[in-house]
Amino acid sequence: MKLRIGIDLGGTKTEGIVMDAGGAILFRERRPTPAAQGYAVILDNIHGIVRHLEAQAGGAHCPVGIGTPGATSAVTGALKNSNTTCLIGKPIRDDLEKLLERPVRIANDANCFALSEALDGAGMNEPVVFGVILGTGVGGGIVVNGQLIEGLQHIAGEWGHNVLEADGPQCYCGRFGCVETFLSGPGLARDYAAHGGKAGLDARAIVTAAAAGDAVAESAMQRYLDRFGRALAVVINILDPHAVVLGGGMSNIARLYTEGREHVARYVFNDELRTKILPNVHGDSSGVRGAAQLWPAG
Ligand SMILES: [Zn+2]
Repeated sequence: MKLRIGIDLGGTKTEGIVMDAGGAILFRERRPTPAAQGYAVILDNIHGIVRHLEAQAGGAHCPVGIGTPGATSAVTGALKNSNTTCLIGKPIRDDLEKLLERPVRIANDANCFALSEALDGAGMNEPVVFGVILGTGVGGGIVVNGQLIEGLQHIAGEWGHNVLEADGPQCYCGRFGCVETFLSGPGLARDYAAHGGKAGLDARAIVTAAAAGDAVAESAMQRYLDRFGRALAVVINILDPHAVVLGGGMSNIARLYTEGREHVARYVFNDELRTKILPNVHGDSSGVRGAAQLWPAG
C-alpha cells in the first residue's frame, strides 16, 4: 500500500494527512502555523508534522505534497502572492526538499482543490474539470484527464484576476474590478454596503437577509448572480469543461446552482449550457487531499 503525505499550509493553521492508495485518510495532524516566528520556524513546523505522521504510519517514508495560498514561480520555484508574507520570495520547495530529504511537490490551494475534486470528488470521471474557490478570495484550477494543468507561468485557472468591470473597486493585485473584488465574500459585502446596505453585514448575513425578503440584500444578490454568470461564462467559452466544481464559503449559496447557472447560460457562447456546475464533495478537506494527490496513488 503506497502512502502519501499532504500538507495544507494556511495562514493560521498547518494540517497534514497520510492518504493511502485508495484515497482514504489514515492519519491527520493539525498545528497552528507559527507565522509570526518567521520562515525557518514554519518549515520546522512542517518537518515536525511529517515526522509525527510517519511515526503514526509505522515509520513509512512518504512523498510529500504541499498546498498553500499564492503561486510558485515557474522560473525560480519561489512563492509569490502568499498571504503569509514571510513566505514570499522564499524557495520553499527547495528548502523543504533539503529539510525532509526527499522530493516535494507544491501547488497553490485552488489547484489542490481542483485536483482533489477531479480525482475522487464531485468531478470524478469528468475529463475536464474547472475547480473554483469562492471564499475570502477567488481562485481556480484546471484538471484534464486527472492531470493538473499549471501552465507556463503557473497561472492557469486564475480567473479571479480577470477584469470583470474596469470601473470596479481596486484589487490587492493593483488592477481594478477583478472578478475577486465582486465574487469573494468581502466583495459581496462591499457591493451591498455601497448600494445602501447596512454597514458591517458579512456575506452570509446578506444571503440570509435576501432570503428573508430584504430588498437591498436581494438586489445585491441579483448583481452577484449576474456577475457570477458573466465571469464564469468567460472561462467556459475558453476551456469548455465538462464540470465546474465550486468550493470555498460562498459555494454554500444554493442559488448559484439554479439562478447562477441560468446567468452563466445567458452569457455563454452556446444555445444551451450542458456544463455541470456542482458543489464540492470534500469540503474543507479538499486542499489537504489534493496536496497528497500531487503524488500519484500507484
Ligand atoms: Zn486582482
